[in-house]
Amino acid sequence: MTDTKASPLVARDRRVVWHPYTQMRTSPDPLPVVRGRGVYLYMEDGRRILDGISSWWVNIHGHAHPRLNAALARQAGELEHVMFGGCTHEPAVTLAERLVAILPPRLTRVFFSDDGSTAVEVALKVAHQYWRNRGQPQRTTFVALEHAFHGDTVGAMSVSARSVFTDAFEPLLFPVLRAEAPYRYRCAHCAGEPRCSLACLSSLERLLEARASEVAAVIVEPMLQGAGGMIVWPAEYLVGVRALCDRYGTLLVADEVLTGFGRTGRMFACEHAGVAPDLICLSKALTGGYLPLAATVVSDEVFDAFLSDDRAQAFFHGHSFTANPIACAVALASLDLFEDGRVLERVARLEAQLDRGLSGLRGLPLVGDVRVIGGVGALELVTEQRQGSGGYLDRVGPTLAAAFLERGLLLRPLGNVLYFMPPYVITDAEVDWALDQIRDVLTALSPAS
Ligand code: PMP
Repeated sequence: MTDTKASPLVARDRRVVWHPYTQMRTSPDPLPVVRGRGVYLYMEDGRRILDGISSWWVNIHGHAHPRLNAALARQAGELEHVMFGGCTHEPAVTLAERLVAILPPRLTRVFFSDDGSTAVEVALKVAHQYWRNRGQPQRTTFVALEHAFHGDTVGAMSVSARSVFTDAFEPLLFPVLRAEAPYRYRCAHCAGEPRCSLACLSSLERLLEARASEVAAVIVEPMLQGAGGMIVWPAEYLVGVRALCDRYGTLLVADEVLTGFGRTGRMFACEHAGVAPDLICLSKALTGGYLPLAATVVSDEVFDAFLSDDRAQAFFHGHSFTANPIACAVALASLDLFEDGRVLERVARLEAQLDRGLSGLRGLPLVGDVRVIGGVGALELVTEQRQGSGGYLDRVGPTLAAAFLERGLLLRPLGNVLYFMPPYVITDAEVDWALDQIRDVLTALSPAS
């Protein structure tokens, strides 16, 4: 087994640090990471581990990238931070301009914040106040999808599906209307059919038909629902969501915190469906995974509802580190790396390799479903627990994580959903190596072996 007990850093950590999700007496020790280079993380004791989940899905160009490092240092020497209330600076303005230039049309106004959850909170608050400012204050309800995950703050949790992430906070959460997601593998409508029939979309249609006059917005994770189990959608579902929002006159919020910046093979996942939302939430890979920064980008129509001589109509929301110049400068350097098109080409090759490699595992008794989109490959495993209520707490998750760590591969399964989401700079040989580890570990764990 991996032994981090001897690590001086871990010994100190255990006395003072409270880590996310790990307050169980049996939680494994944290990994003492001292250095990152490319796809690798280096431990205090010299071990090298491949970052197979891009450090919680943020890293795309690899750790310690020379161009991002240089941008960071350069900006720190000029202006490290200034409040964004009443001040502006070059990195923020340029970043806003460049985001608008590459986003789907209609997304024209950029509101900066800090991370994925705050990008979502901003979107929810803007959508809510948009209707209030427009004289329709009764539109206070959000429609969200089953299996959704939008973050850990109270608003973001409210629109997320109920799960172990939200259970303890249930009394704090506001009610939302919940529509079916296109979860092909566990679909009640078209099980056994060769193709998705989009029957699930009628659940959203029914909700909007009955309640549209009270709905502020529909919020979705386009094409790929992440923490809910790496559920990959048919693009037609997203086309249908946009059409229903148009038909019933409500706003569409695309949470692209995970999917933005190439992760699904397109710069933004909405492009798969040729759809433009009214608001989009960006974070994670916005800075190449370097620094916390988020943007909620909205249409002119949404922005214009806040134009007024009445101060009460302004959007009273602003974080201390809004539009931090160093984070903006690194985000610009990350966008530069996309310029010649080779980054997205790399993701396309990664997708093909993941598709081939993971499809070859379909025959393993443990493997129930294989899902691949862009640089994300997932296997939904059939475990005794999952047939009951398993989900995120399925015991197979920690068992697998420990087995992969022992082999030098950092993966954190979402319960019975094992996924691989490396930085795009991973080489073909490194992907093959990781796929070999996955095959070997799953074969060893399969009941038939
Ligand atoms: N939205 C989505 C789709 C996410 O996947 C996440 C994080 N996994 C968030 C929002 C929240 O982001 P953060 O952890 O940066 O607050």
